[in-house]
Amino acid sequence: MCHCCGDALNAPAASDRAHCRACRLAPPPFARAVAAATYDGRLRDAIHAFKYDKLRPIARPLGRLLAASITQLADEAQQDLLVVPVPIHRSKYRGCGFNQARLLAAEALAALRRTHPAWRLALAPQALLRQRFTESPSGLTPRQRRLNLRRAFRISDPSAVSGKDVLLIDNILTTGATARSAAKTLLEAGAHSVWVATLARARRPSLLHPGPNAQRAGNIHRSQPENRHPQPARMFAHDQPSF
Ligand SMILES: [Zn+2]
Repeated sequence: MCHCCGDALNAPAASDRAHCRACRLAPPPFARAVAAATYDGRLRDAIHAFKYDKLRPIARPLGRLLAASITQLADEAQQDLLVVPVPIHRSKYRGCGFNQARLLAAEALAALRRTHPAWRLALAPQALLRQRFTESPSGLTPRQRRLNLRRAFRISDPSAVSGKDVLLIDNILTTGATARSAAKTLLEAGAHSVWVATLARARRPSLLHPGPNAQRAGNIHRSQPENRHPQPARMFAHDQPSF
């Protein structure tokens, strides 16, 4: 597993700090991204229910899972962290009713206050704002996603992030494009470092195949033969939230 972004490595790693090809070729602006688990099975179902069925009671157990993800950073990240949920645009907020990342972050912080009282984590849900509407990233190539995400964020008050060590929170990390864009915006505003914690890590779509949609739908079939959902291609399109 890549120490920087958590993606699966194609070959056995020589060390536990090995980096994947993507992180070697284009080092991300964030220091490290961690996830609690791989995006499949019951976790995928739970995230899906949380996001699309708006099952808010799931926030608490998912928040505890996110807390477990964050604790992977205990030996590396600073103890004082500004916790910034990846924002969604207001128009999307109206559609889904709440920002899941913000709710998850609040639940995770509540759990960490009990288990890691020395950690000083301050939630800053308004620090990072969506600057403009970004189309649903499903169906876009990685390059189109990057272009889509360029200048996707802005900082509400640079003095609030200047010099701070920031922990970005989101549901899922797939290509890392959203995390890169958000981290870049935070660093340009003067943040000292940016760390990323998500619930789940989805396998980065292969860059070797020309048809990203066909490839992704195919991945679902191959990697999850037990998948009980009747429309895997549509499901997967839904499952590409902001990353
Ligand atoms: Zn990597």
